[in-house]
Amino acid sequence: MTAAPTPALPDEVLEIARTLESAGYEAWCVGGALRDALLGHPHADYDFATSATPAQVMSLFRHTAPVGEKYGTVGVLDRRRVLHEVTTFRRDVTTDGRHAVVAYGVSLDDDLARRHFTINAIAYHPLRHEWRDPFGGRADLERRTVRADGNPAERFREDYLRILRCVRFAARFGFSIDPATWAAAVESGTGLAQLSAERVRDERYKGLRTAGSVPELVDLWRRVGAAERWMPELGHITPERLGPAARVALEQRDPVRLTALLSDDPAAVLRRLRASNADIERAAAMARGPAAPDGADARAVRHWLARVGRAADDLLELHAMRTGQPAPWSEDVAAIRERRDPLARGDLAVTGRDLQALGFAGPRLGEVLGVLLDRVLDDPALNTRDALLAIAREHQ
Ligand code: ATP
Ligand code: MG
Repeated sequence: MTAAPTPALPDEVLEIARTLESAGYEAWCVGGALRDALLGHPHADYDFATSATPAQVMSLFRHTAPVGEKYGTVGVLDRRRVLHEVTTFRRDVTTDGRHAVVAYGVSLDDDLARRHFTINAIAYHPLRHEWRDPFGGRADLERRTVRADGNPAERFREDYLRILRCVRFAARFGFSIDPATWAAAVESGTGLAQLSAERVRDERYKGLRTAGSVPELVDLWRRVGAAERWMPELGHITPERLGPAARVALEQRDPVRLTALLSDDPAAVLRRLRASNADIERAAAMARGPAAPDGADARAVRHWLARVGRAADDLLELHAMRTGQPAPWSEDVAAIRERRDPLARGDLAVTGRDLQALGFAGPRLGEVLGVLLDRVLDDPALNTRDALLAIAREHQ
């Protein structure tokens, strides 16, 4: 292995380390940010492991946030308002595949021993430039391998979420998975059923956002049993269907849109994973469509925009993902928005009250507003009070 590089750490991170060390505590950089720095990926928020207790950490920093006090984690906000997680050295006392009971007062090495993958179990002392790498994490980073430290089956049994984390890291960095780790992951796959929907969802979103290749991630989910247990819809995807997902650039990774791309009933997937109502509603609206206007003129595009409402941008993007081309009607959409063509009842030049004054009431009033909107979608020039009142009178 090459000589240990000195990772470039942000000043704010060094500052946190100095504060802890000058108060007499140990402060080590650990976890994902360190791993990413070694891989040359910038990472804003750092994880620290420290000998200070959560209460001691809170008393040392002005801006802290409770993150996971039960597990010894305090969030420390730096002056850019970036939150770094500072966690007391801990070891797992008991685990049941979903939760752990942790104990403090242990050494850094004990703490590293509970960090599941060798590439995540590296520690670096940012002031003394000292490394602690008991499981050979840096060698695995060079080999581009995800490997569980110790007995892989045991590591997965302690927390089945690690199976999903394993495939997420592999797909994100394009790493291979060590054969013994992979065999244990597949064997432990049934344990995935014990996880809470929320943790699976967070993992799924993170995976879709960060995978170097979405199709590879989906393939790993399938092979490890996660698709079968949590996203059976993925089991039916054909290669043609999966193909477009390969083209979606990292910056455009939206887990809800990708779910709509990968499944015919994305709302069902997200409901099972207890996603937010906003995400479920977005997914349902995408599935409802219609996916495209039923004509190629501005009139048809206006009717489509009125019908799909806030789902318009999601549907435009979905079309682009599926076909690899911008939707042919996207220029019409831009022009319609630019001109502020009326698209909803609220945009009409008359109100319900105007129609009441003409004697409309109840459901009939709603029907007439619908008629007026239809006419205005056909021809926005009709959206004047006089023209609309005249049309309304024809329906008296
Ligand atoms: P990223 O933040 O990019 O998703 P990460 O490795 O930083 O990756 P976090 O969830 O932020 O992941 O966790 C920080 C560190 O805490 C990990 O690197 C790992 O050392 C440890 N860790 C997190 N989750 C687990 C887990 N389920 N089991 C064991 N250790 C874990
Ligand atoms: Mg992290």
